[in-house]
Amino acid sequence: MRMMRLRVDPVACDAFGYCAELLPEMVGLDEWGYPVLADGVVPPPLLDLARRAVRDCPRRALFLEAAERQGSDGARVSRGAVLGAGRSAGGNRPHARGPHAT
Ligand code: SF4
Repeated sequence: MRMMRLRVDPVACDAFGYCAELLPEMVGLDEWGYPVLADGVVPPPLLDLARRAVRDCPRRALFLEAAERQGSDGARVSRGAVLGAGRSAGGNRPHARGPHAT
């Protein structure tokens, strides 16, 4: 199974914290409402929720990235592709509900 990390683009993020509501196990909020992501890979049981948080981010600021592997000598072997749904050509879609609804 491919290991994934959750990432956020702080420039694109609008700090309403919807991702923290969807995935509190991996996302906290700082004092301004910006997401603070847990270190490490997303545990496999949380991957579906992480994908949903990525998909539902209204600013396309949240994304999943393949985790880097370490070689036997500890050197970085590869860097995974960015797999965020927001990086597709689909454009922004409005939230159906939640704090981002306008
Ligand atoms: S849902 Fe997206 S825009 Fe909203 S706080 Fe999370 S990363 Fe930022």
